[in-house]
Amino acid sequence: MQTVNFENTEVAFSHKDNRKLNQSYWLFRIIGSPVMVKLGAFMVNTALTLRVPFGWMIRKNIFAQFCGGTNIQESLKSAEILAQSQVGSILDYSVEGKEDESDFEKTTLEIIATIEAAKDKSFIPFSVFKITGVCQFSLLEKVNAGQSLSEIENASWVAAQERVHRICFEAHQRGVALFIDAEDSWIQDAIDTLVESMMLEFNTKSPIVYQTIQLYRHDRLNYLKQLHNKLKSHACFTAVKLVRGAYMEKERKRAAELNYTDPIQPTKEATDRDFNAAIAYALDHISDFAICCGSHNEESSLMLALEMEKRGIERSDKRVFFAQLFGMSDHISYNLSHAGYNVAKYLPYGPIKEVMPYLLRRAQENTSVKGQTGRELSLILKEKQRRKLG
Ligand SMILES: Cc1cc2nc3c(=O)[nH]c(=O)nc-3n(C[C@H](O)[C@H](O)[C@H](O)COP(=O)(O)OP(=O)(O)OC[C@H]3O[C@@H](n4cnc5c(N)ncnc54)[C@H](O)[C@@H]3O)c2cc1C
Repeated sequence: MQTVNFENTEVAFSHKDNRKLNQSYWLFRIIGSPVMVKLGAFMVNTALTLRVPFGWMIRKNIFAQFCGGTNIQESLKSAEILAQSQVGSILDYSVEGKEDESDFEKTTLEIIATIEAAKDKSFIPFSVFKITGVCQFSLLEKVNAGQSLSEIENASWVAAQERVHRICFEAHQRGVALFIDAEDSWIQDAIDTLVESMMLEFNTKSPIVYQTIQLYRHDRLNYLKQLHNKLKSHACFTAVKLVRGAYMEKERKRAAELNYTDPIQPTKEATDRDFNAAIAYALDHISDFAICCGSHNEESSLMLALEMEKRGIERSDKRVFFAQLFGMSDHISYNLSHAGYNVAKYLPYGPIKEVMPYLLRRAQENTSVKGQTGRELSLILKEKQRRKLG
């Protein structure tokens, strides 16, 4: 049986009728232009500053492409559509940049609501959150650097740890697996300590808390092995989301400015090598592991599929998941699920104004370099052509 064919655009876009495919086509054409993205970002920022309502402009196009809805109820409808193609959803509350305790508390309740929404729904196999959604960045930075905290800071740190614990506890109570995203290296040690203690507490019977490993860092393959040994010695599951890492430019810039060793791999090849090695390592120890490969890279996704086959791991084995972002790389998600693998997509949601930073990042990511047709656009064009001929 063929492993998986990412070229099959019929399967990749089976969930989009011609109208929706055309909408995606025009959207990717527009955001393919760096000038249009810059202009769009300028207009949005101006509208935000002047408090001009602009949601209606965004809702039917870029928001519809990359977000599930403005709230959980709306996102569940999007999740049900994905579920028709056996593609799972991960409700991702994508509101960013909050900095005060009452916002952190609201976010905690919202994350717990996503966990509640996922309970008993096989089409929502995971929940997710970022530690910076429930704790001040500057506080994490201080904890990470081992700096002493003031009384107020100490109280905030205790509250933040309590929130993280509450979220993991609620996930554990409901049997919902939970990803904790990885972030900047200068707060990641603090995150690691917190996540590891949650894994030790909640991963004894089944993999509930998933740590995220960024393989663009040259120290993370080793960290993965150490984490595995530590959890194994406590008879806990090593649940991990493997990603390359999203903050390379920022990491390199900071390391250069502050004159410390760049934590990022010297080349893309080195990142790819460690990413693939991490996949192989987890599969070699699959009885201790549960993994999710969070990637839009076709080769890595295919490699994971082939390595599973080599080791006789069933395609539907719940210990192995593939994940992509909603609105991107449908050729990977839908073809993998069509071939019988476990797939889920991050389904970001939130009030339109609040998810704008997320949407702008997606637009920037899909802006073509030197006018080439971006990958998403080429795939849509291929499918449009196929439908025209067929
Ligand atoms: C479901 C999902 C969850 C995610 N969760 C997180 C998360 O929690 N934390 C996080 O940081 N990111 C996360 N990401 C983003 C991810 O880390 C990558 O930034 C993104 O997916 C692009 O990598 P890729 O594997 O898809 O594809 P590719 O296009 O093959 O890889 C691009 C990546 O390779 C690395 N890279 C590129 N050039 C170089 C170079 N010159 N030297 C060294 N490395 C290089 C960078 O990490 C870059 O992002 C997630 C992605 C997905 C799909």
